[in-house]
Amino acid sequence: MMEGSMDWTEDSSLATRILEDIGKELELGQEAYLAKLVHVSELVYCLTRSFYNRYDPLPPNPQETMLFAVGIGLEQVLLRPHKKPASGELDGIHWSADWLDYNEGLTELKTTRLSAKKGPDELPQTWIKQILAYLKATGHREISLAILFLMGNYGPPFPTLRVYKGKANDVEIQANWNWLQARKEIYLEHIEKREPPQQFQWNEDWECQNCRYLIVCQAKESIRLIKEKKEVST
Ligand code: SF4
Repeated sequence: MMEGSMDWTEDSSLATRILEDIGKELELGQEAYLAKLVHVSELVYCLTRSFYNRYDPLPPNPQETMLFAVGIGLEQVLLRPHKKPASGELDGIHWSADWLDYNEGLTELKTTRLSAKKGPDELPQTWIKQILAYLKATGHREISLAILFLMGNYGPPFPTLRVYKGKANDVEIQANWNWLQARKEIYLEHIEKREPPQQFQWNEDWECQNCRYLIVCQAKESIRLIKEKKEVST
């Protein structure tokens, strides 16, 4: 039997259009989100980025679009029957979460490119800070965290789902809340002045890797360093 054959050519312009359309879907709901100031997620992640997202947004880059799309796709399609949305506000900080309804308590779903070899003690600090904020806002002390490791343990790279149960005490929950409150003050001061918080000061290093604002931040940082050098030499 003769094997079939086809000619294939890469169609990058169609790939771009598809990515743009996924990006547009991800922007839905953004207006309602921005109507409330300030959100837990705005404070936990890079403040500079949160500022730009509000006042000077750039479209998401392809990496961000795909990573968000995978996470949101999983939540909205695969687990739709088990979603338990909740939201609220405490001390001027808004929060919202789509819990899963597998138990009476809180169950949060995350997707990550991290290796499944990472234990719960090696999870990103931003996740832990966000979870501690949820615990403060809801009065819970325990949470289940379902993690879809998209790349499995990278050998072979099959997706893996793990669930961890976590507990926190009042002291660490309150310490995290104080940290968030301090960031809120700084963030709101910058919003009042309409001036972005200084780049590379309010983020974890990994956040810059796929960030759509990286070129802007690098340019601003070069200008800042040149000014600083001039001031020292005069
Ligand atoms: S490049 Fe880094 S510092 Fe700049 S907005 Fe993005 S995460 Fe923040």
